Amino acid sequence: MNPLIVKLGGSVITDKRRKFAVRRAVLRRLAGELAAAKKPLVIVHGGGSFGHPVASKYDIAKGYKSRRQLMGFSLTHRAMEKLNSHVIDALQKAGLPAIAVQPSACAAVSDGRIQAMELAPVRKLLELGLVPVLYGDAVPDLSRGMSILSGDQLVVYLARELEAERVIIGADVDGVYTTDPKKRGAARLVQTITPESWQKVSRFLSMPQGPDVTGGMANKVRELLALTESGVEAEIVNAAKPDILKRAISGERGLGTRITAR
Ligand code: ADP
Repeated sequence: MNPLIVKLGGSVITDKRRKFAVRRAVLRRLAGELAAAKKPLVIVHGGGSFGHPVASKYDIAKGYKSRRQLMGFSLTHRAMEKLNSHVIDALQKAGLPAIAVQPSACAAVSDGRIQAMELAPVRKLLELGLVPVLYGDAVPDLSRGMSILSGDQLVVYLARELEAERVIIGADVDGVYTTDPKKRGAARLVQTITPESWQKVSRFLSMPQGPDVTGGMANKVRELLALTESGVEAEIVNAAKPDILKRAISGERGLGTRITAR
């Protein structure tokens, strides 16, 4: 099948400064861009202003410590389901037969990392021509009790297991810069990151602003670099700009930052 794995960043489809704020027009446009794809697609989306604030309030990412977190776990998952239903609605309106796949029900996670995942249904959905949509989620953790599975970790796991043709990460910036482009004007875009150049680049990546519980851009690149060992190439592009995601999906390269083996 060799699907394309496309991530819609939480900072693109939501307004991270306002709790539970969907960017409806952006989501509608992106759904249209995804609908133009000629390849099988797996879509993953992040938490943005839905999952992160709730997960952070209840410290879900740090593991189970008290009963108070049980409601937090339930609320975090529910917030993600709500965002997911906005995504599914938009994709359906654009003509894509999208179907939600709940990560907390099919991933076995230990110490925050996916150990195994039941992907037979996802493979069948793809074979049928459906579009599975997964998302960052609050998950039961076999060693910590509970944790947060990031959309970025999911993307990498799915890309490896489904032998993805390519991974495209839609962010709200043009790619990885020499410094956070939202803080300094002098930031330069890094065109390619390889395992070899990572040491140098990692110094540029600051921790995310706001209640991001999954580590922001630095974590994204770290996850994607591991994927290069499986021969899958990734590119971080600006999905907040019209048509960039569509061009990347249709095979164009060099629109943002490429994460490759060499
Ligand atoms: P998403 O929610 O889309 O998954 P994140 O918010 O976690 O993405 O990460 C993207 C953000 O990382 C950008 O909006 C940017 O402000 C921030 N960032 C920090 N350092 C950098 C950098 N060196 N290059 C690009 N973005 C950076």
